[in-house]
Amino acid sequence: MTETQFDSRREAVAAQLPERQLDGFLVSFSPNLRYLTGFTGSNGNLLLTAGKAILFTDPRYQIQAAQEVTCRVHISKGPLVPDVVAAIGKLGLRRIGYEPARMTCDSLDSLRGHMPMKSTLVPVNGCVEALRMIKSTDEVELIRRSVLTNSRAFETTVPRVKVGMKESDLAAELEYRMRRLGAEKPSFETIVAGGARSALPHAQPTSVRLANGQLVVVDMGALQDGYCSDMTRMLFLGNPTAKVKRAYRAVLEAQLAGIDAVRAGVATARVDAAARNVLKGYGLAEAFVHSTGHGLGLEIHEPPRIGKKDKTKLAAGMAITIEPGVYIEGFGGIRIEDTVIVTDTGCEILTPTDKSLRVI
Ligand code: ZN
Ligand code: ZN
Repeated sequence: MTETQFDSRREAVAAQLPERQLDGFLVSFSPNLRYLTGFTGSNGNLLLTAGKAILFTDPRYQIQAAQEVTCRVHISKGPLVPDVVAAIGKLGLRRIGYEPARMTCDSLDSLRGHMPMKSTLVPVNGCVEALRMIKSTDEVELIRRSVLTNSRAFETTVPRVKVGMKESDLAAELEYRMRRLGAEKPSFETIVAGGARSALPHAQPTSVRLANGQLVVVDMGALQDGYCSDMTRMLFLGNPTAKVKRAYRAVLEAQLAGIDAVRAGVATARVDAAARNVLKGYGLAEAFVHSTGHGLGLEIHEPPRIGKKDKTKLAAGMAITIEPGVYIEGFGGIRIEDTVIVTDTGCEILTPTDKSLRVI
């Protein structure tokens, strides 16, 4: 990311201030700070006005901020709030936006307690997140690299999977490999679940050993250079039954139908419906208990949501997942997930990994 790119992102936020009748905007959510300034530390506040941007952080991040941050940096000796408020007073800012969904009640109380008499805090939701939905070419490249690392980690681990392996050992192996391939860490806690536990969409790996005749769900993602990837693939230990094969075919058809529906201008609910209708045709509509996908980037889950009631229209440059699944108590669960980039004519599927059921 170049300095100019951060400049133009901050300008895009500042350009929204007049229509929101704001003189300034206070950003405190880490992924938004990173997006607007390059700062990757855990404690920061960015005060943004039409012509100024000041990042407040503490002495632990002095050296790091000097290297990373593309705007003015202020190092606070104690808590950040008094210094932020002093700057608000000095700049004579009256109406200041803040991120209510991203701030603790304590921070807001402290901010209110220190605020100059003439200034007001105004809640602003999703302003930076809306910009973050559309990825730049550079961001798409970073997501692509993260996706490739993730897929390579999966492919190099699959040959090691065998009956008797613990779910937690398989998860550890996948995470070790993604780190060796360049990831900082997993983008979320790796899901490995065998047999009936695969019916839990967000199962945590346990010390239970994988057994013959089991479906195994592997949902994994890498975080590389700050950007996430997300993929789900299914393994089967032994010979899949006709019921397993049919359910797998249903989910795969649903996933392909979802991908087919992706195009700039299409409402996310239509993509969700495309996948859902296929499962309905198989009598599995009730077994699909979550939405079809989500945006990803600096965070593993970000807007847009690809769900039943979502009204967002897809736009070129959005990075989203398509991940229908079916979950049947006592039988198991099947989910197939790819990361794709929305284009004007459809989408580019970033995930290169083969989508057939991996029989081991
Ligand atoms: Zn996933
Ligand atoms: Zn996902």
